[in-house]
Amino acid sequence: MKGHQPRKRFGQNFLVSPGIIRKIVDAVAPRAGDTVVEIGPGLGALTEPLLDRLEHLHVVEIDRDLIERLRQRFPPERLTIHAGDALEFDFGALSSSGLLKIVGNLPYNISSPLLFHLAEYAAVVSEMHFMLQKEVVDRMVAAPGGGDYGRLSVMLQYRYSMERLFIVPPGSFNPAPKVDSAVVRMIPLKVGVTEGNPHGTGEMKCPAAGTAADPELFARLVKAAFSQRRKMLRNTLKEFGGEALLEAQGFAPTARAETLAVADFVRLANVLAAQQTQTK
Ligand code: SAM
Repeated sequence: MKGHQPRKRFGQNFLVSPGIIRKIVDAVAPRAGDTVVEIGPGLGALTEPLLDRLEHLHVVEIDRDLIERLRQRFPPERLTIHAGDALEFDFGALSSSGLLKIVGNLPYNISSPLLFHLAEYAAVVSEMHFMLQKEVVDRMVAAPGGGDYGRLSVMLQYRYSMERLFIVPPGSFNPAPKVDSAVVRMIPLKVGVTEGNPHGTGEMKCPAAGTAADPELFARLVKAAFSQRRKMLRNTLKEFGGEALLEAQGFAPTARAETLAVADFVRLANVLAAQQTQTK
C-alpha cells in the first residue's frame, strides 16, 4: 500500500490476507496458456500470484496512479494493461486467442452494472470468479420464493451456472469494508449443451430455462415484474397483457414475481414474442 491513498470513488478495498488470496487463485486454477483478464488489479494482490501460474495476463484498471505502479512492476510482455473503465471495455476484443477467464475483486460500487455489461460477452467467456459483497452474491444465486430472489438472480441465472464458493470477512481487506464479501464462480450456460464442471465441484446445471426468442423483451419483462416486488404480477405486467397473459399460461393472477422460476419468465417472454411476430 506504500504511498497509495485508497480511493473510495473507485471502490478500493485492497486484499491483504495471504490465505484468502491463495484461496481465490486456487479457485481460479489458471493454466499456463489460458487467456485471463483481471478487472481492477489495484496494487496487484491477485495479479502477482496469477502471473506466477500464467505466461501472460490482461488487466483493466481505471486509476492512473495504480496503472503507473503496475507498469513499473510488471514487464509488458507478461502484463497487458488496459487503462480505462471496465464498464465500457470491449472484452470480446481479447477473445481471439481463446475463451476468456475473467477474475476480479470487483469495485462494489459498480458491481451490478458491471455484471450486466459482462453478460453481453457470455459467449466468449469460459468462466468468471469474482469477489463481491456477500449480500450481492446471495441475490445472484438465490432460488425463487425468498427475499433475495430478484431481477439480478433471474437475469444472471438465465446465462450462468453460479456457485458461492466462500465468504471473506472484512479484516481481509485494507481498508476494511463494513460488510462481509463472498467469492462467486460463474460459468456461462451453453444453450443445448450438457457440459461437465471443469472444477469438479458439483453438477453443472443444464440450461433448463431455455432461450428467450427476444432477449430484449425478456429483459424488459423481468425488469417490470420486479419493479415493485410486493405487487402482484397482474399489475406490474399490465403493459404485457397482465391477467390474461398469466391465466393463459396457467399462473395464478395473484402470483408475485418472486414465485416464478427463470424458465417461467422465459416462457412468458416467448409467448409475447410469438404474439408480436403474428401481429406484424
Ligand atoms: N484487485 C485488487 C485487490 O484485490 O487488492 C484491488 C481490488 S479493489 C476492490 C477494486 C479495483 O478496481 C481498484 O484497483 C480500482 O481502482 C479498480 N476500479 C474501480 N472502478 C473501476 C472501473 N470502472 N474500471 C476498471 N477498474 C476499476
